[in-house]
Amino acid sequence: MSEAPESRLLIDGKLTDAQSGKTFANVNPATEEVVGQVADGGVEDMDAAIAAARRAFDETDWSTDRAFRKTALQQLVDALDRHKDDLRPHIVAEVGCPIMLTYAVQLDSCVTDMQWDIDMLDRMEWEYDLPVHEFMGMRSSRRVFREPVGVVGAITPWNFPFMLNVSKLGPALAAGNTVVLKPAPDTPWSATMIGKIIAEETDIPAGVVNIVASGDKAAVGEVLTGDPRVDMISFTGSTGVGKRIMARGAETVKKVFLELGGKSANIILDDADLDGAAMGGMMICIHGGQGCAITTRMLLPESRYDEGVEKLAGAFSMVPYGDPMDMSNIMGPLVNAAQYEKVLGMIERAKADGAKCLVGGGPAEQFDKGYFVQPTLFVDVDPESELAQDEVFGPVLAVIKYKDDDDAVRIANNSRYGLSGAVSSASLDRALGVAKRIRTGTVSVNGGGWFGPDSPFGGYKESGVGREHGVAGFEEYLETKTVGLPAD
Ligand code: NAD
Repeated sequence: MSEAPESRLLIDGKLTDAQSGKTFANVNPATEEVVGQVADGGVEDMDAAIAAARRAFDETDWSTDRAFRKTALQQLVDALDRHKDDLRPHIVAEVGCPIMLTYAVQLDSCVTDMQWDIDMLDRMEWEYDLPVHEFMGMRSSRRVFREPVGVVGAITPWNFPFMLNVSKLGPALAAGNTVVLKPAPDTPWSATMIGKIIAEETDIPAGVVNIVASGDKAAVGEVLTGDPRVDMISFTGSTGVGKRIMARGAETVKKVFLELGGKSANIILDDADLDGAAMGGMMICIHGGQGCAITTRMLLPESRYDEGVEKLAGAFSMVPYGDPMDMSNIMGPLVNAAQYEKVLGMIERAKADGAKCLVGGGPAEQFDKGYFVQPTLFVDVDPESELAQDEVFGPVLAVIKYKDDDDAVRIANNSRYGLSGAVSSASLDRALGVAKRIRTGTVSVNGGGWFGPDSPFGGYKESGVGREHGVAGFEEYLETKTVGLPAD
């Protein structure tokens, strides 16, 4: 692999080391080797980044000059597109994700999808008039303006870091905001590499995008969420941290947009194709199960339970995994030692809780190095148990038996989460009917994909507040101003 990529922060238009001069190690989870050192942004760097973003919003034309934004953001998309093959191995090295995913959502498609946000600059109704209205004896016409929120603090996790950074930068910038991006400590390059491209290959003005990587998980992020100069926090990550951010945002009444965890159910109705269901079930292992919207509970009907379990066991025994740089693998290691220990601990507790482990159930000992866990299939899982209720974020499927469609819907909705789900049936209408009863932000019916730059994505319940992507996602980054004018 080529040498370590850009590892400096981007603050007020300059690629810079941390003021403290400190760095932190970026570790490849497949080899446990340090692949590079990254500038370790501290509280003082975050303060400087917020000041730069505030100034760029208040004192430049970025928020008002849509034509310029379009040109500058087009430069960014084109440059990201040109550099895809340079970025690819570094993303795999720090995330441990299978390289095949970088040809899709982990890199290539999110760059393509950013074009959608740029095109919104032309499609958005930035101002419109309402009909004349009489209020307290006075006739007025009203004009509504859509304006950027201001300074956006974007905080992202490690599982799909490049995509999530782009998914926040795209609409936030196109809408006219300035941004301070804080990536996860495990995946700093997925942000700092974007910083270098912005600084060197675009006309995006100094201060419009600031990137503060930090080896500390929370302290530097807490500065961002508490600072009164920041108008909005756009967060993707765990529900626990999301709650903390919501509470912290309340102190300065920030707009808080949250994309959080999930424990999504895949309902296989009793007339469904079980071979397809088993292959779909096995696909939860993609990226080691480290996806928020992965359907990690499979609900099988009592009448076909044994048949379904047998097919699933066959599929789980064949999951191709190992070296993430091997195009044939759908799963590499887990992201770090802590995640590895957490997943193995949940597997052990699931066994103790009485769930039956049919495939896997421990570390993948064929690898000398790396945080590899075996693809793991649990059946006869109690819907109230930890395995059925809590996010594992590992390659672990929990199979739950149900009696009839109503029971399946009840079990699927028996979750504090509400992110995604799936339903399969020989009858599209029947599957759609069940899908409409599921309390989640997205549902796949008979394998249909809900993901797209124009598809609103987000969670009900403790899976989040607000939507990413689509018009709804773009509007998250806008304020609404109504101006009253005397009617003639
Ligand atoms: P995490 O919540 O631990 O961390 C996410 C980010 O928040 C990191 O950048 C972290 O440094 C930062 N952070 C942590 N504490 C903070 C604090 N007190 N103040 C400010 N920032 C803080 O999540 P993770 O372990 O990086 O990622 C996995 C989680 O992300 C899973 O729960 C997964 O479901 C969720 N996720 C959700 C979506 C979605 O769109 N709904 C997408 C991807 C991941």
